[in-house]
Amino acid sequence: RQREAFLASVRDSTLPPPAPRRVPRPAPVEPEPGEPFRNAPDTDPAVAASRSWAAEVIGRRVAVPEAVTVTTTADVDDAVARAQGVAATWAGTDPSARAALLRRAAVRLEEARGDLVATMVQEAGKTVAEADPEVSEAVDFARYYADRAEELADGRVPGAVFRPDGLTVVTPPWNFPVAIPVGSVLSALAAGSPVLAKPAPATPRCLQVAAGAIHRATDDLGVPRDVLQVLLSPEGDVGRHLVTHPAVARVLLTGSIETAEMFSSWRADLDVLAETSGKNALVVTPSADVDLAVADAVRSAFGHAGQKCSAASLLILVGSAGRSPRIAHQLVDAVRSLRTGQPTDLATTVGPLTEPASGKLLRALTTLEPGERWVVQPRRLDDEGRLWTPGVKDGVAPGSWFHRTEVFGPVLGIMRATTLDEAIDLQNAVAFGLTGGLHSLDEAEIAHWLDRVEVGNAYVNRHITGAIVQRQPFGGWKASVVGPGAKAGGPHYVAGLGRWADAADLP
Ligand code: GLU
Repeated sequence: RQREAFLASVRDSTLPPPAPRRVPRPAPVEPEPGEPFRNAPDTDPAVAASRSWAAEVIGRRVAVPEAVTVTTTADVDDAVARAQGVAATWAGTDPSARAALLRRAAVRLEEARGDLVATMVQEAGKTVAEADPEVSEAVDFARYYADRAEELADGRVPGAVFRPDGLTVVTPPWNFPVAIPVGSVLSALAAGSPVLAKPAPATPRCLQVAAGAIHRATDDLGVPRDVLQVLLSPEGDVGRHLVTHPAVARVLLTGSIETAEMFSSWRADLDVLAETSGKNALVVTPSADVDLAVADAVRSAFGHAGQKCSAASLLILVGSAGRSPRIAHQLVDAVRSLRTGQPTDLATTVGPLTEPASGKLLRALTTLEPGERWVVQPRRLDDEGRLWTPGVKDGVAPGSWFHRTEVFGPVLGIMRATTLDEAIDLQNAVAFGLTGGLHSLDEAEIAHWLDRVEVGNAYVNRHITGAIVQRQPFGGWKASVVGPGAKAGGPHYVAGLGRWADAADLP
């Protein structure tokens, strides 16, 4: 109606036509000899301001809130008992009050942005450019799941009430040590379940700082802090005791498929919702915008040193795109221009690996299979094996080890296909189905690819990492997901963490 009213007002308008725009073009300014180039970063006040913010943040000493240390199974039982102590009250809290907690958490997380970025840089090796949007994602999750919580209000489905799963264990990964745990924790809190969150052993402080912000929100609103407990524990029996505890109703895991399988083998009736691994490809057809395709491939492959489940590991060039010197040269140039180093250096684009390269990743970084050759050979820059310049290998053969194996690091493999269908077959010939991309300016190709590709997140003419809450709900297909499969940051995620029960059946 607004639109119609607007169009009517435009049609009826008796205003004279707007005067032609006369905006004088600024006269080119010739730099004085010896002056810095005008696009040098420090001459732009906005860029200079954000650089000095980043420089301050990088060196910041962040106070890390305490967490519950669980070293024995009895400690786990205590934490579980405390969570159970608040479970009924939290489940019975009006969904809009739960939504209010999430909105407050959004404010507190935003306030903690600098501390969160600092902790991610210092503990997780993330660059500021990767860490800063991760805080935004966490804030987006808080606001988005708050809206979803409102939808759970009694009476929305007539005669039905929403029953949350109950005590939820969150086990996040180290690669998104803020956004993923915050999203998981807040989704469960939105549904009405108390949470025990166990950070990845490599990045406990990131979660502790984020939980500190959430606890400031609980304090603000008088919600008991025990709705969220962060548990620090050594790996092993204690973790197993937690996951298999009979009071635990649900596990939200983001990690490897092996961990998901291990959890399920521990307890067959456990409700695990897991986002697992990926082996993701980006397809480029001859109709693609080459500049965009190369930039997106490089960003997707080497952002956070390739340590994303969503990262591009394969670039599949279709037909003449596979023989294009322009694509080859631009790709090599772009990859060589990346700078590997410590994240505390603002010029770094590829930071350190969280764990020194070993196993599958070391193999991918140091060996070639038959038919493969390095177009850009990775180099190790430190003794430990955490700093690697990114690598690109060409000639990855269909069905080869690299074609099918997730390596989780800074290596991109190139494959070639004669037709788009052949490219899609290569893309689909992996067990996983997390993300995938197509670069093409041909609408028929785009429609065909979207119809056939077997991935949870299919991106067209865009990089394939960095899903945006609500706009690109994130979740996999095939071996990339375990459990009911609602997508994080999507409309069904919170409602999937409980069930609608007939009000008449409830005591
Ligand atoms: N949500 C992230 C993205 O879209 C990936 C998460 C992950 O690596 O687990 O890039």
